[in-house]
Amino acid sequence: MLNIVLFGPPGAGKGTQSEKLIEKYKIDHISTGDLFRKHLGEGTDLGKLAQKFMDEGRLVPDEVVIGMVDEKIKDSKEARGFIFDGFPRTVAQAKALDELLEMKELVISGMISLEVPEEELKNRIKERGKTSGRSDDQDESKINTRIKVYLEETLPVASYYESQGKLTKIQGVGSIDEIFTSICEVIDSY
Ligand code: ADP
Repeated sequence: MLNIVLFGPPGAGKGTQSEKLIEKYKIDHISTGDLFRKHLGEGTDLGKLAQKFMDEGRLVPDEVVIGMVDEKIKDSKEARGFIFDGFPRTVAQAKALDELLEMKELVISGMISLEVPEEELKNRIKERGKTSGRSDDQDESKINTRIKVYLEETLPVASYYESQGKLTKIQGVGSIDEIFTSICEVIDSY
């Protein structure tokens, strides 16, 4: 089974590449950001809880995120594999994911990290904000908070996988298809 962590800062292109990857490899997509937005849209308790964190560009507490992913994995009995997008975002989440997968005798095949310079990220997020309707994409200070949180809390997750020999960095600037080709080369080597 192919279990990939697609990693990178906000605006790196994880969502765009995930869509192409699930089509090619026929694996399930678990995007915690998308799941939270779905809960928000449906007005569930989980959505209400997550909203204030998301609005401020801060991370939703680990136990909430982990519980949601656990449920999603349990619901996906037929999956041929998973692409994790926007998760794990803390080392505690990465450890919890390893435990969840271990119970199913599964492991992470590898982490692919999309490398994009900070200025480019900010431009992309602002551009996306014009059409995404996401309030966290439209406010300079929220964007800055998200990048700061990424650097402080999420970047250590890359070291976690690197120490297991599972990290590959990919240039995240270029055409969508070029980047997709680079990602597929890595996946095909697993
Ligand atoms: P981004 O464009 O910043 O990568 P996402 O759509 O992945 O955005 O996530 C949007 C927001 O949802 C985050 O800023 C955060 O508040 C919350 N969120 C998403 N995934 C996680 C996670 N794994 N842990 C904690 N919070 C999360």
